Amino acid sequence: MLYPLRFFPIYVERVWGGDNLKRLFGREFQGNRIGESWEVACHPHGTSVVCNGPLKGKSLKDIIDTYGRRLLGDKLTQRDIDRFPLLVKLLDANDVLSVQVHPDDSYAMKNENGELGKCEMWYVISAKPGSKIVYGLKKGVTKDIFKDALEKGTLENCLNFVEVSPGDVFDVPAGMVHALGAGVVVAEIQQNSDTVYRVYDWNRVGLDGKPRELHINKALDVIDFDGKYKAEKTKGLAVGNKVYFVANRYFAVELIKINGRYDDRADGSKFAIYTVVSGSGKIVYDGGELELKSGDSVLIPACLGKYSIAGTSVDVLKSYVPDLNEEIVNPLKFAGYDDDQIRSVVKILS
Ligand code: ZN
Repeated sequence: MLYPLRFFPIYVERVWGGDNLKRLFGREFQGNRIGESWEVACHPHGTSVVCNGPLKGKSLKDIIDTYGRRLLGDKLTQRDIDRFPLLVKLLDANDVLSVQVHPDDSYAMKNENGELGKCEMWYVISAKPGSKIVYGLKKGVTKDIFKDALEKGTLENCLNFVEVSPGDVFDVPAGMVHALGAGVVVAEIQQNSDTVYRVYDWNRVGLDGKPRELHINKALDVIDFDGKYKAEKTKGLAVGNKVYFVANRYFAVELIKINGRYDDRADGSKFAIYTVVSGSGKIVYDGGELELKSGDSVLIPACLGKYSIAGTSVDVLKSYVPDLNEEIVNPLKFAGYDDDQIRSVVKILS
């Protein structure tokens, strides 16, 4: 019998990491350079292991092999069944990350041994006052200007810096240059991929004392120099207690503000992942209940049926693989949003 699954975090040391996950979420780990916590993962570089209930100790991969579509859902494509589609992380940028970009699916398939491309989104959980991120390029930066700046060591002049506060959301499609800045902790929802092209590392050395590898040529191939995606904060569109923030063919992310009780239903069509970004509460389902606190993620199996999340002032992100028309565009139209507004949330990627 499947039930809401929680996982042991997979902590990853990074040169830019810190120990803010201890402070913010009461996490326990060795050292003070943890940059990433993989919360729900099924990737060769890290696979989550269940930490609650009868399936405790089993890996997400084992559970997918055993339960297949009962866990993942009838409406997912075979590709998403063969390769779990999402990866959910907490990132602690105690120091600035390298300036980087990710390829899209078709480039990654060809150039990275069949790996997936990577679109991602960030929800800012905590940010020191004045902290900034790199989000896209300044207007008018062409490939030539960018290359020239790289050679002269003046890339900073080409980058669009944005000040961030808790609650901000950024959609980071494949091709968009980006870097989290120092003092920012985010929840990151992304395609299940670990392919990154590093463009610039602020003249810093890695944990082994050597400069980290850069991937300039591949980055230049995939960077969006045409301004296809606007580098603007995603304001989101509210419908009732939900805010639709990001939706593309790979994932949709909604913020749900719960004060009392939120009811939902897993009807067999797809799984969902909830990540608590503020407050604490519990999930109540047929057969039990599960406490959730800030920073926790939980995977709701497609076959779970009715469930509710209860709590006072709990904010959760709900991530899932959407049917863009049925689950995003139509509800937004019905709520009165026009096409331009809907396009600020739904970026249909080729
Ligand atoms: Zn990234």
